[in-house]
Amino acid sequence: MPDTDVFAERHTDSGTDARLLRETGLIPFARWCPSPNFGPRPDGVPISLLVVHNISLPPGQFGGPEIEDFFCNRLDHSAHPYFQTIEGVQVSAHLLIRRDGVLVQFVSLLERAWHAGRSCFEGQDECNDFSIGIELEGTDDIPYTPEQYRRLAEVADLIMAAWPAITDDRITGHCDIAPGRKTDPGPAFDWQYFRAGLHAARGSGRNV
Ligand SMILES: [Zn+2]
Repeated sequence: MPDTDVFAERHTDSGTDARLLRETGLIPFARWCPSPNFGPRPDGVPISLLVVHNISLPPGQFGGPEIEDFFCNRLDHSAHPYFQTIEGVQVSAHLLIRRDGVLVQFVSLLERAWHAGRSCFEGQDECNDFSIGIELEGTDDIPYTPEQYRRLAEVADLIMAAWPAITDDRITGHCDIAPGRKTDPGPAFDWQYFRAGLHAARGSGRNV
């Protein structure tokens, strides 16, 4: 089959994927790890913002099950001194991208996840109401992996197709909506590289 047909087919599939995502709120290629930490979005407030975060548990350590345990309220808080400082905290994000690019989903995108906290984007408070939160497994200062940038671009492209109100300038960092309180995704996150990848993902017909 010629390459052009392959691209045409992908475009058709991507349109279907975006419609399906709008209906179900579930990313088809994510591993589903349901968190109880969510609620309904307020009526009449369209999804219009994508927030990029980072998290690692314990801080600076990667690869373990602790982030998933934390978002699902089953973290063993006695297992590490840092975990005691976050005992009783109930948070979530819609999505997590592990260091190897694996995507995990905790909350349907149609629901309101608890990732932004006290926050404001262009005069609009309570960003959890109208945003989708994506965590990158990482820290502010350790470079993110190419697999994470690639996966983030792919999933952002699909989300933007499903909710076109999320334009390029409505993809932001937690640090930007909660300045002075939050620093993630930190200086390690290369916005220019990410945006270049996002445009490349768009050009490839959302082949996710
Ligand atoms: Zn954050």
